[in-house]
Amino acid sequence: MDLFEKCRRFTRPQELQEIGLYPYFHPISGSKATRVVIDGREMIMVGSNNYLGLTHHPAVIEAAVRAVEKYGTGCTGSRFLNGTLDLHEELEARLARFMGKEACLTFTTGYQTNLGTIDTLVGKDDQIFCDRENHASIFDGCRMSFGETRKFRHNDMRDLERLLEANREPGRGKLLVVDGVFSMGGDLANLPALVGLKERHGARLLVDEAHSLGVLGDEGRGAAEHFGLGGRVDVVMGTFSKSFASAGGFIVAEAAVINYVKHFSRPEIFSAAMPPAAVATVLAALEVLQKEPELRERLWINARRMKRAFDEMGFDTGQSETPVIPILIGDQTRTFHFWRRLFDAGVFANPVTSPAVPPGKDLIRTSYMATHTDEELDRVLEVFEQLGREFDIIPKSRVV
Ligand code: PMP
Repeated sequence: MDLFEKCRRFTRPQELQEIGLYPYFHPISGSKATRVVIDGREMIMVGSNNYLGLTHHPAVIEAAVRAVEKYGTGCTGSRFLNGTLDLHEELEARLARFMGKEACLTFTTGYQTNLGTIDTLVGKDDQIFCDRENHASIFDGCRMSFGETRKFRHNDMRDLERLLEANREPGRGKLLVVDGVFSMGGDLANLPALVGLKERHGARLLVDEAHSLGVLGDEGRGAAEHFGLGGRVDVVMGTFSKSFASAGGFIVAEAAVINYVKHFSRPEIFSAAMPPAAVATVLAALEVLQKEPELRERLWINARRMKRAFDEMGFDTGQSETPVIPILIGDQTRTFHFWRRLFDAGVFANPVTSPAVPPGKDLIRTSYMATHTDEELDRVLEVFEQLGREFDIIPKSRVV
């Protein structure tokens, strides 16, 4: 059997391209964050994770440019050897302080952060309890570790408790892992219940704050801060590819944990360090995030307005409580057609289909920025309303 046989038989992308319904890998040739250029046409971007719009903040851009001038374009090696800059250490110290934990370790991507943390902390005798809707990088970290993974129903604390009760053997370390904000549904993990359960069962809790940093909490520290539980979460993970306007990731925890992960994590050790421009971007973004809380306020004004408008039109936005607002469409074909019509109307959003969501629950994922203007958001709503009616997803007249 030739290994390449399956590749040659995989023709679904070409089939979709031929009928104009292929929604992936569309190259962007210019960006102003809320607006992007694709195929020479300007579109409104509601499919990014750029919650604070900092990819285009003048102070952030300036910091990135200065870092390239001072350090060059890349580190060309692992943090472990030649790839540690004073900037990496400065960023780690500032993030630890900001998050209120003893220490911090950065990774080159958010994906590697979950892989490298879970894999290193969980040994062969240990167990992981993982929400079914956690991000793929968490599941891949579970697979890479030699521990045993138990999945619980999405945000179902009774199911988690049942699993914990059924796995009470002493001598096995236990890790509970959740997304603080779930990346597709935009709903929040039940952190108060999780903290209670992990304390009762002597487990540790890792919260992935990828979509909540800069978004939730009085200071933008994420879902744990939102619930007033920062001190009771053992390991907080974050990415730099969202509010922090770059790429990379980090964990904060007690110093002994960070020291251990730093010396044993393969995704940390066997991969080149975050490049200088990325580190400087995140340092500058962290400063803006702390000095300009009005950006977070603006983000929430935009997010609440969009959620209210979609709900009033009659769309199903699931359990979203954040600037990630899914719009349920139904089956895959309809979702791709809906996506295409949005695209033609100049609205960039993401179709999400199985296996990222259960079959028949396909959706268009929209997400909002602090820097979206009212005019941009009005236009997005106008297009959604028109298409929602045409596709019979919402009633022909307003539900009041
Ligand atoms: N965790 C979550 C919850 C995510 O949504 C993502 C990325 N979408 C990641 C981790 C991986 O982060 P990155 O894209 O920065 O590698």
